[in-house]
Amino acid sequence: MENIDIEEFDYIIIGAGAAGLASAQYAARGGLKTVILEGMAEGGQIMQITELENYPGVFPVVNGIDFIKKMREQAVSFGAEIQTAQVLSIDKIENKFVIKTKNKTFTAPFLCIATGAVHRNLEVPGEKELTGRGVSYCAVCDGPFFRNKKIVVIGGGDSACSEATYLSSISGDVSIIHRRDSFRAQKSVIDKMLAAGVKPIYDTVVESINGSNKVESVTLKNVKTGETSEFQTDAVFIFTGMIPQTELVGMLPKDDTGYLITDENMETSMPGLFAAGDVRSKPFRQIVTAVADGAIAALTVASRVEN
Ligand code: NAP
Repeated sequence: MENIDIEEFDYIIIGAGAAGLASAQYAARGGLKTVILEGMAEGGQIMQITELENYPGVFPVVNGIDFIKKMREQAVSFGAEIQTAQVLSIDKIENKFVIKTKNKTFTAPFLCIATGAVHRNLEVPGEKELTGRGVSYCAVCDGPFFRNKKIVVIGGGDSACSEATYLSSISGDVSIIHRRDSFRAQKSVIDKMLAAGVKPIYDTVVESINGSNKVESVTLKNVKTGETSEFQTDAVFIFTGMIPQTELVGMLPKDDTGYLITDENMETSMPGLFAAGDVRSKPFRQIVTAVADGAIAALTVASRVEN
């Protein structure tokens, strides 16, 4: 290859969330020359977690930002590199992956996609216009702006229910609006939310978010009766699920919902190309499962390099 800015590694990981950092730590500790390429937004979804309370051995609770900081320090302490570089393309030439970024080209025989997932928009009128003016996707970032104000949370999964619980510590007036008659979050998460005084509004969708300069209300529709109503609020926190980040590997097989399919070693259908964390098709997306995916991918790579 002619490009002089080529860096060669044993193992390249794209994405510096929990899966990517765990994989880097295991690979570097196993003696592999390892680099993580991260985009401008570091840390992935964990950065938005206010209280990480279910990661075994991490007690009392920490916040996501502190947790990721420690993971980065730990990976680097074993010799992993972390470089900020927006990946433009991935090719496989002979037995090496060639990853092009704006200023450099990276090559390695093994590659792991740990690009995670991003939040899904609600796609209703007013959402885009009022983002940053009362519409938010991050409770820890924006919750404190709404101390003792009226807050609504949209969604019925673990994110919506746990972030509604957090928001109830900021305001005593938090309602959660869910389109079905029961939440899909874990029972313990729902129980904690209800005990914190969050008011559930079931069988209801948001038709629009209203306000001239900032959020003033939401228009709601009961999906069973068809009845519509106006609900006054100062803030709308949206947690309606995630979209896996798979654009760089469009050629790989995915499940019905767009997540990358791997075997139990985290290897995709392309030999040497792994996927770990929330971008991967699997039943449970937790930090602990992302970390496990990353470790398994790295251990598999290490075993191949040894042989
Ligand atoms: P999720 O589990 O996919 O839940 C998304 C929620 O949004 C669902 O209740 C869904 O409704 C609702 N929804 C989707 N589109 C909607 C729309 N257009 N209008 C109204 N509601 C809509 O997503 P998540 O809560 O972000 O969780 C993602 C993954 O991370 C899960 O595997 C979760 O277990 C994990 N997680 C774990 C923790 C923890 O353990 N502490 C915390 C956060 C996340 P339906 O129920 O009707 O489909």
